[in-house]
Amino acid sequence: MEQGRKDDSKMQLILDGITRLAAGDYSVGFETTPGADVANQLAAALNKLAVSLRKTTDRESEMNQLRKSNAELKRALEKAGEDERLKAAFFANLSYEIRTPMNGILGFTALLKKPEITGEQQQKYINVIEKSGERMMHVINDLIEISRIESGQTAVSLAPTNINEQVEFIHAFYRNEAERRGLKINYVCGLPTGDAIISTDREKIYTVLMNLLRNAIKYTQEGRIDFGYEKKDNQIVFFVKDTGIGISGEKLARIFNRFERNEKEGERQFEGAGLGLSISKAYVEMLGGKIWAESEEHTGSTFNFSIPYVTMKEESGVVAYKTSLGNVHEESNKLKILIAEDDMATVMLLTVMLEDYIEELYHVANGLEAVEMCQQHPDIDLILMDIKMSKMDGYEAVRHIRQFNKEVVIIAQTAYVLNDDRERSLKAGCNDYITKPINREALLEMINKYKSKPVA
Ligand code: ADP
Repeated sequence: MEQGRKDDSKMQLILDGITRLAAGDYSVGFETTPGADVANQLAAALNKLAVSLRKTTDRESEMNQLRKSNAELKRALEKAGEDERLKAAFFANLSYEIRTPMNGILGFTALLKKPEITGEQQQKYINVIEKSGERMMHVINDLIEISRIESGQTAVSLAPTNINEQVEFIHAFYRNEAERRGLKINYVCGLPTGDAIISTDREKIYTVLMNLLRNAIKYTQEGRIDFGYEKKDNQIVFFVKDTGIGISGEKLARIFNRFERNEKEGERQFEGAGLGLSISKAYVEMLGGKIWAESEEHTGSTFNFSIPYVTMKEESGVVAYKTSLGNVHEESNKLKILIAEDDMATVMLLTVMLEDYIEELYHVANGLEAVEMCQQHPDIDLILMDIKMSKMDGYEAVRHIRQFNKEVVIIAQTAYVLNDDRERSLKAGCNDYITKPINREALLEMINKYKSKPVA
C-alpha cells in the first residue's frame, strides 16, 4: 500500500515535469533514486532530454544573437556607406556653394575697377556682389550652426516671445521677395496677441520659420505660400504651405538629414547646402517639439513644427532699456552718435550708412575710451557698441555707461552669432542688438523705432 502511494506520487512529479518540459521550461530536474524501477529510468531519461533541450535552446539563442549582430553590422555598414556618400556630396556641394558666390564677388569687383563702365553697369555689378555676399553669408552661418549643434554647444535660451510679432515680422521680411517672384503670401496667427506671448527660444523659432519660408519661396515657381500657426491642445503648431515643386515620397523621409538635397548628382537647379532643415529639426527638438512634412511632387509641400504652449503674461528676466530718441532732435532729425568699434572697415561702413542721421559723430576703438567719451559728452544720443574690443569689451563698457547715463540709446553690434549674445547685451544695459554683416535697412529701421516711438 505504502509503496504504491510512493510510486503514484513519483509518477505525478514526473508527469508535472513532462508538462513543464512540453511548455518549454527546460530547467526541470527529475529526482532519481538508486534502483532500476520504471519511474527511476523515466526520470533519468527525462533529465537527459532536458539537458539536451537546454543545449539546443542555448545554441538557438546564440544563433539568434549572431543573426542579430550580423544584421546590425550590415545596417552599420550601410549607414557608413550612406554617411560617406552624404559627406562626399556635401563637400562637392559646399565647394560649389562657396566658389560660386566668390566667383561673383571677385569677378565683378575686378570689373568695377575698369574706368570705362557706365553707371548702370556699376549698379548691376554691385547688385551681383551684394547677392553673392548674402549667399555666402548664409552658407557660412549654416556651417557654423551645424558644427555648434554637433559639438553640443547650442544652448536653449528661454524668454517671453510674442509669436504673433514673429510671424508678422517674417511676413514683412519676405513679402517683397515673394511678390517679386509673382507669389502670393499670406499669414495666419491662431491666437489673439494677449495669448501669444509664450516662453520659448525666440532666436530658434525665428531661424526655423525663416528657413522654412526661404525654402517655400525658393522651391515654388508659381502660386502661393500660406504660413502661420494654430494652437492645438497644449501645443503651437506652425505651418508653411507652398504650391511648389514638391518632394517625392522616398526623398521626403530623408530631407531632414544633414547635407541631404533633393537633387540628382551633377544637377544644380537650386542653390543651397542642404543644412537648413537639419538645423531646423535640431532646434525644434531642443525646444521639445517635432518637425514633419507632407508633400506631393509637382503640387506642393507643407512643413509643420510644434512647440509646447507655455504662456507668459509678463516680461520676466531680461528687460531692455526703455529709453528713446523721440524727443531729442525731432526738428533737425539728426543725432549725436558714438561708434565704438575697432574695425575701420566697419566704422567706414556705419558712417556711410548713417550719413543722413549724423549731427555729430564720435569714434572710439575700445570700451574704456567709449566710457570716457560718454562722460565727456553726456549729450550723445546713440551709441553703436561693438561687443568684442580690446582693453574693455562692449558689455562691460555698457554696464559702466549705464551707471551714469540711463538715457542714451545703445545698440550692440557683433559678429558673433551665439545665442545668448542678445540676452547678454540686453542684460548689460543695451536697448537693442544687431548682428554683422549689418544690413542698412535693418539698422535704420531700428534707429527709427527709437526715434518715432518714444517708449514710456
Ligand atoms: P537647401 O539649402 O538645399 O535648401 P534644406 O535643408 O533647407 O537645404 O532642404 C533640404 C532639401 O529639401 C532641399 O535641397 C530640397 O530638395 C528639399 N526641400 C526643402 N523645402 C522644400 C520645399 N518647400 N519644396 C520642395 N523641396 C523642398
